[in-house]
Amino acid sequence: MTKINALNRTFLLMRSDLNEGVSDEQLLEALCSTRVLLAADQTVLATHSGQSAFIAAATTMARSAHSVWLQADDVPLLGEQPPLQGATMLEALRETGRDLLPDWSFEEGDPKTADIAILFGAPQVTVEAGLTLHANATDWACEVGVSPDGGWQGGDWPMGGLAVAAIVAGEAFKTAMRKLREHALSPPLFDDLHAPVSKAGIALAPPDTPKVSDLGSFDLVSAGAIGNAALHVLMRLPGICGICRVIDHDTSAITNLNRNALLRRSRLNDPKVEDLASYANGLAIEPVPHRYKGEGEPPIALGDVVLVGVDHIPSRWAVQRENPSWLGIGGTEGTSVQCSWHEPGLACARCVHPSDIERSGDIPTTAFVSYWAGLLLAAAFLRCRAGVARPMNEQAAFLSALRPESWAYAYSPILPLPDCPECGGARRAA
Ligand SMILES: [Zn+2]
Repeated sequence: MTKINALNRTFLLMRSDLNEGVSDEQLLEALCSTRVLLAADQTVLATHSGQSAFIAAATTMARSAHSVWLQADDVPLLGEQPPLQGATMLEALRETGRDLLPDWSFEEGDPKTADIAILFGAPQVTVEAGLTLHANATDWACEVGVSPDGGWQGGDWPMGGLAVAAIVAGEAFKTAMRKLREHALSPPLFDDLHAPVSKAGIALAPPDTPKVSDLGSFDLVSAGAIGNAALHVLMRLPGICGICRVIDHDTSAITNLNRNALLRRSRLNDPKVEDLASYANGLAIEPVPHRYKGEGEPPIALGDVVLVGVDHIPSRWAVQRENPSWLGIGGTEGTSVQCSWHEPGLACARCVHPSDIERSGDIPTTAFVSYWAGLLLAAAFLRCRAGVARPMNEQAAFLSALRPESWAYAYSPILPLPDCPECGGARRAA
């Protein structure tokens, strides 16, 4: 069991922008030699939002094998941070870090030099970094950029902080990719995609959106990377309660370690649903070992609210056909992230993808891309539970995970297809 085995899907994603001559060893070297400093000040770490951002950034980067240096006080954990165990932040990160990729662990202290430094708040650092990014968050939004702005305003609610984690993990990945520029398939396109961010803001919901932690009953179809990420987000909500059935037939494999946000190496070969259920907190998790609409499996009745994290398009249609009162779908394609939500009378999941996408072989994907999909899916679900009607021009979100600035244009409406077999063109647009 080696890093090269574990990073197979990440390598596939990297190769989509590189020529064939590049070896796995060169890809691994680019990832491992990328030195990242994560530094946080005391005011940020005195909040659950700040701790969530720091921890999610660290573990998401860890899954891409970067050299991740932690500079922070070993503060008591203010809330649950699965899959971390332990009472204090650094101790818990240390222990978890040794249980992610093979032969990998976090570094601590001052690395002297770094390719990229991420500053949460205004920590005192002396590192010489190729790129320094400042991160700030509010309850639902965040900003990451080269010039500090605003200060950390997050408190208990972790959503804005988790968006910070997704952005900065993507910046670390791009830093590794820039080391391989001589192998770029198309240098101009490569440069556009992988240039460092100078300023990006994400708003997952309007600032006055009610913060609802009672999630009620819902189903999650798939315990894969996107389902892992959605639960990783939801389990961090303060005071969370609810019942989630997780439906998946698979067991965790080493090639899932590069992206499944709740997976530890010591849990490989366990059924995915059982592993996720072991992290149940105020959110009860009911494991359902079942391949949704799989060959030879009896059908399973779904609940009224369903979150879907499968890339298999016919499975999404099958869920839609059950006519849930609310359906949220998160998906990825390369480094693109999509999320949509559907209610009776609106354009349905089949209107988004009217035909299946032929996929063969292993799917290229990596931690920060899957995390984005789970985060957007969780945010859409929380906005549904907040009970605030959403404008129709926000029914779909599309983000280039390499270019978080694209969030400014993320939302769009979904037009019902006139001949859609599932929703009848939302019943001929009512
Ligand atoms: Zn439709």
